[in-house]
Amino acid sequence: MEVLTCNSCGIRLSEKGDTSFMCPNCGKAVIGRCAHCRDQSVEYVCPECGFRGP
Ligand SMILES: [Zn+2]
Ligand SMILES: [Zn+2]
Repeated sequence: MEVLTCNSCGIRLSEKGDTSFMCPNCGKAVIGRCAHCRDQSVEYVCPECGFRGP
């Protein structure tokens, strides 16, 4: 199983408050977000389609 990392800062996701979801644009890539980046609304970029979102 692949270890998920935060799409924005690259840390491994393990703590509570971390989340992951499929890209809302292409639905092909899993976007991981750590609690910190969620809190700060740091932008993420889909590795598949380049979609950017908060
Ligand atoms: Zn992060
Ligand atoms: Zn995408």
